[in-house]
Amino acid sequence: MPPNESDRDVDHSNKYNFPKVELHCHLDGCYRFSTIAELAKKRGIYLQKDESELKKFITAQTRCNSLPHYLEKIYNATRTYAGDEDGIARITREAIEDKAADGVVYLELRYAPHLFANCDVEPMVHAEERGRLRPKDVMDIVNKTVKECENEYGIRVTTILCALTPFEWGEETAKLCQEYESHGVVGIDIAGPEGSEDFPLHCQRGFEFCRINGIHRTAHAGEVGPAGHVKKAIEQLHAERIGHGYRMLEDDACYGIVKQHRTHVEVCPMSSHFTTGAPEDWSKHPARRFHEDNINFSLSSDDPGVHLASLIGDYDIATTMWGFTTQDLFKLNLNAARSCFLNEVERKQLVSDLKREYANYNDIVVEYDSITSS
Ligand SMILES: [Zn+2]
Repeated sequence: MPPNESDRDVDHSNKYNFPKVELHCHLDGCYRFSTIAELAKKRGIYLQKDESELKKFITAQTRCNSLPHYLEKIYNATRTYAGDEDGIARITREAIEDKAADGVVYLELRYAPHLFANCDVEPMVHAEERGRLRPKDVMDIVNKTVKECENEYGIRVTTILCALTPFEWGEETAKLCQEYESHGVVGIDIAGPEGSEDFPLHCQRGFEFCRINGIHRTAHAGEVGPAGHVKKAIEQLHAERIGHGYRMLEDDACYGIVKQHRTHVEVCPMSSHFTTGAPEDWSKHPARRFHEDNINFSLSSDDPGVHLASLIGDYDIATTMWGFTTQDLFKLNLNAARSCFLNEVERKQLVSDLKREYANYNDIVVEYDSITSS
């Protein structure tokens, strides 16, 4: 089905008209409000809510009280399609269609297959009743849809599997990463309501399994949890990238480790505002310091469905609130390309494709090779 602008809730007009790379985006956070409203009706849930109540229930129009409050919105949305093959395929298809409309040429889309399953999963979190959809079946649906969409929308997409706290799916998730490596799974992530407690053991064992087997690793850390989580993610989980990591600035030693390793930081401007991960005052956002210090970071949308926005909104924040130039945005996209989880041949090709495209912007001088060496 060709893209249909009228189906979309959000303006995806490609205002920043150059190819983009997005590394941190949750499949279950990419929904269109209109689709969730339709799926809720089909499932016969949330029927007592009118449109504006439903909107408040699954999207954040103002800064949330906390990260769990923000995540609750995603969980409310996931309940409308968990265990539903067609629903999962539709959410996947629309997420990719919207990313292609934003000008994303390479996307790493992450999700926890366990969250959408209704069979062979303990606990069953979101599905309404037990059925026959195992985590592996969920992956088959997502992988098949990704393949179809890559061809249709001219975008390259790989997936990252999330081990989700507080559930004990870490080791199983790691093994699924290995089993599905040839089906576009490129890495593992740890996600969920980060608190002050340490990373759980099952997650550490899962990450160790991935390290030994050459599977890439990223971790949500230091978003609302302490800087120590970033240090542990790098030193104990051997994370190559950090999701958010804003609070690393509270600890010079930790910030030093990120600099020393050239660890890539996946900054998500809008979500950091809504989750309270970053200060309310945009001028105090850690991304400004990352930029000044030439940290290896890039911009992602995280959960654009929650914000009723798109990646374009995140770019708008970077340009209007932080004064980032187009040249800066090129640099961040090249950082992302160099730190992505594609194999070396594809990664190098992506970097060189972006350089070639960006070179067409004659009035902009990009110091490509001074950016990162990784
Ligand atoms: Zn995230």
